[in-house]
Order: sequence, then C-alpha cells, then structure tokens
Amino acid sequence: MSDGVARVILEGFPASEGIARGRVRRVVRDVPVAPHVTVPDDERTREIERFRHARRRARCELEEIKRETENRLGSIEARIFDPQILMLDDPEVVEGTRRYISESRLSAARAFDWCMLELKERWSRTSHPMVLDRLNDLEDLKGRILSRLLGLPDPWSPVGDSGGTVAVARDLTPSFVARLDPSRVVGLAADGGTRTSHWAILARSLEIPAAAGLGDVSTRARDGQEIIVDGLSGRVVIEPDASEADRFERRRAAMRGWRREGTESPREESVTLDRQGVTLRANLDLPGEAARARRLGADGVGLFRTEFLVVGRSTMPGEEEQYRAYRSVAEAFPSRAVFIRTFDLGGDKFPVFLRTPPEDNPFLGRRGVRVCRDEPELFLTQLRAILRATVHGDVRIMVPFVNAASEMVSVRNLLDRAAEQLRAEGFEIKRPVKVGAMIETPAAALATRNLATHADFLSIGTNDLVQYTLAVDRTSTGLAHLFDPFHPAVLRQIAMAARAGETAGLEVSACGEMATRPLGALLLLGLGVQSLSVAWRSLPEIRRLVRCCRLDEVRAAAAAALEAPTGNRVKQALSASLAVTLERGRYPAGS
Ligand code: PEP
Ligand code: MG
Repeated sequence: MSDGVARVILEGFPASEGIARGRVRRVVRDVPVAPHVTVPDDERTREIERFRHARRRARCELEEIKRETENRLGSIEARIFDPQILMLDDPEVVEGTRRYISESRLSAARAFDWCMLELKERWSRTSHPMVLDRLNDLEDLKGRILSRLLGLPDPWSPVGDSGGTVAVARDLTPSFVARLDPSRVVGLAADGGTRTSHWAILARSLEIPAAAGLGDVSTRARDGQEIIVDGLSGRVVIEPDASEADRFERRRAAMRGWRREGTESPREESVTLDRQGVTLRANLDLPGEAARARRLGADGVGLFRTEFLVVGRSTMPGEEEQYRAYRSVAEAFPSRAVFIRTFDLGGDKFPVFLRTPPEDNPFLGRRGVRVCRDEPELFLTQLRAILRATVHGDVRIMVPFVNAASEMVSVRNLLDRAAEQLRAEGFEIKRPVKVGAMIETPAAALATRNLATHADFLSIGTNDLVQYTLAVDRTSTGLAHLFDPFHPAVLRQIAMAARAGETAGLEVSACGEMATRPLGALLLLGLGVQSLSVAWRSLPEIRRLVRCCRLDEVRAAAAAALEAPTGNRVKQALSASLAVTLERGRYPAGS
C-alpha cells in the first residue's frame, strides 16, 4: 500500500477485461536511429548483402513467433504477424532501400531507415485509423531490422522476470505481447492503441488485463510503483491509496469467485429471483473464444464481430476461410443462436485493401451497412460464407449501423442473391435465415418501429448509441468523461427501442459494454431489454447478477431512473434502488 505518495488516475479504453494489480515495469522500445553513414563505392554490394541477411533473420524470427503463437493461441491469432512478414518483401521497402544504397551510397541501416520514414510519412497522411495498426507493425519491423544492422540487442527487453509485473509502454506490439507469460506479466497499460489493436487482441487471448489509449501512462509511471489496471473500464491507478486498493482488491476477489463459480457450475440457469429467464449470450472477437464462452455457460453468441478477418490484412478474406470461422462458432453452440455481425467497417476500422478515399469524419461517414452498398463483392462473399454456415447451427445475421428500413431491404436482396448462387452451385443452406438490425444511432432508436418491419430481431449497440446520441467520439480519451451510458437521452432511447421491439414481437437484446457492467446490465433489463450479450469473460459475473435480482425491482428502479435529470442522478437513483440487489450479489461498491 502506498499511502502518502501522489496517486495518479488515468482513463483510457478497455482493451482486455479483468483487473490486474502489480508493480510497474516500463518497457522502453527505442527504435534505433541509424546514423548518417555513407559507404565507398566498392562496399555497396556488401551493404546490400547485409540488408538481405538482416531481412532473412527478421523473417526467421517472425516466423518463429508466428509458430509459437499458433501453438499457444491458434491460427487466427498467428495471422496477426502476416503483415510484418509480407512487409519484408514489399517492393517499396526492398527496392527503396537498395536504391538508397546503390545511388546515394548510404549504409544499409541508414538506407532502410530512410525508406521506412518515407513509408511512415506517406501512411500517416491518410486518415484511416486502421493504418495506425500498420504503422505499429512498421515500427516493430523497423526496430527489429535496424537492431540487426546496427548490432544492437532486441529493442524489446524481456519483462516479467520477477512476476506480478504490469508492463507499461508508449505503445505495445504484437510480437512483444505474444511472448508474454501471463503468470508473470499480469497487466498491460499503454499510451496508445485501442481495443482493436493487434496487441490488444493478443492480450485478450492470453487473458492479460489491459488498458489502452491512456495518453501518458508511460511517462507518469515509474519502475516499481504500484499500479492497478482495470481492463473492463480502461482505468489505471498508479500508487492507489489504501481505500482504492482495497476496493479493487475486493472487486478482483469477487471476480475470481464469480469466475470459479461460472466454471464450476456453468449450466446454472440465468434466471432472476422472481423466476424470469434472461438469455445471456457472449460477445466474441475471435472464433477461438467460442469454446471458452461455452465453458462459461453462454446461451449462444449475441455478437460475433467479424472484423478480425479484415484487420491488418492486405487482401480480402476468402469465402472458404470465412465459412470455416463461422462454422466453428456455430458448431460450438449446436442448439443456441449465434448472431454473426456483418463487417462493421468504417469509423476506426477500415481495411487497407479497400483503398477508399480518406474522410474528414470517418465515424459519420461510410460505416457498417453503408459500406455494403459500395462493396457488394466483399459483402456478397461474407453472406455466402454465413449462409453456408447455417447448416451447422442456429446462425443468424446481424447488420450494424442501420438507420433505415431500406438498408435492411438492400441486405436482404443481397442475401437472396447469395442464396440463389449457392443453390445453383449445389450448396446446402438453411432458409429463411433470421436477419436482425443493430440499434446504434438515434435514428434507429427513434424509428425502431419502422426498422422492426424488416428485421427478425434487434440488438442495441450501446457503445455507438452513446457515441452518436451524445456526439462524443468513443475513441477519444480526452472526452472519456463525457461518454456517459447513463445519460437520460440514452436511457429514453433504449426504453423506446425496447418497447417498439416488444410491440412488434421481436426479441430485443443489448450487446454494448453497458451490458457488461452490473448497473448497466440491470438498467437494460429494467428498461425492457430481454437478453444481454456480454464480453465472454464477464459471463459468470452477469449471470450471478441476474440470479440475485428481482425483475420487478429492477423495472421499478429503471422507471425511477428514467425520471432523473442527469447521468449522475440516474446512477445515484439506480444505486439507491438496487442497493439490496448488489448486496445480495456481494458486489463491491462502485460496481
Ligand atoms: C456497440 O456499438 O455497442 C457494439 C456492440 O458494436 P461495436 O462495439 O463493435 O461497435
Ligand atoms: Mg457498434
């Protein structure tokens, strides 16, 4: 405990669920700078040869990391290293460096450094956020090759030798995270990155709690300081005071208990004290998570994000690869619904292979279902792959970022085309397949009744609904304090959408982060949402919560919260009316 030392609280993005408490180990990745060295004419061939040799070594190392990752985590996770391996043969990198060596007589290190700088400069000019991950790959590769050429040690010094380590860095890279030992490195905190960063995906697979986008954690934290990382809220506390440390400790202990219960009795029903069943499904980012979610008793999958198939890829994912991924998730839940969300591209995720012009406001631009119209081949391939997977379970299709019924009609038309093609080719498919709309914008929430006429189910994406209702960028750490899922305007829209869905006889679920937080989950149920889909690791906690609440009490609490004038008052009203429920579930204060 570190009373008396100034504590620092930083708010970032949740990158990998769980709470970690340990000691800071700053990971300084200084990508070396190559000094300006020229070589005599007759040494140019030797420099070109040195560059070739450094690339060859880098390839061997990356392939080794990829192999290890495949063995430890799976083939999808291992593919995260493909862009770096491909970059080693990129003509711009290879020819560019050779040219600088032969024409400008630069040393191999300097020539490569210049070439990478040029590439970085060009990529940085595009405003596509997905390029950021490529920039991160580029820096990782640059550090690896330059260290070889300059005879320096690996820029990523190993961490975790003493156990209980929280690695703190400016930015992390996939090759660093993939090799961590979770029994020693218990948490990660980075200035940069988001939930979709490659390193964050690997942290989730390794079950290492992580917070990203913290701004300046790497300069604020010092080696050996005590640090808490809350990977669910994205909050980091350096040198917590006694009461804070105690609160986190109790929450961590409670989470461990729920997890144990969840694994020991995963089939315990998700039913309230007044015997109302609540369907509890899992949110998945990768196919490999399906088996883990099933072990924790998920009633199916309420959100299977499919962007892993395009993030960081330089080519479009093929139908066969997609079919295998969708099939594996469907087979993990033979008699449960699996909602596969079609690609939600745009906003902070745009694949480089689409080569679309940059937009000034990507979050208000071509996103989700809007991209479908402009990229029918990409979506047709995805719909074909999903349709083929329908024979392996109860597969349903969920459409993101819908504003109007006409968009659902377009998707259904494309789906008919995909089905016709498949039938003509002799594939077996199950029809009709259910198609649902996500409610993620005020337009969708306020006009749910219209959308419902063209949807078989509805799912409220609270992350985006909050973002678009409050006009607060969900990726901006500077605005994190304004991102309030309990804002009255958000509550009213959720209530309206739930009511409209119920009137239309459709199942209304919620799949944003709000459902993963105890108060948020209770509020959603109280506002009329019938089923929840939560990050798979939070299943035991939320099931426990459902089993400790009475739906009539939760509804009354939500009705009172709907009258509150501000987000804070909403939270106060809920905490007061649900205090008994939280106590029953032994939820620490501040849940
Ligand atoms: C949401 O917006 O709440 C949601 C679940 O989708 P995503 O977080 O993938 O945008
Ligand atoms: Mg969304």
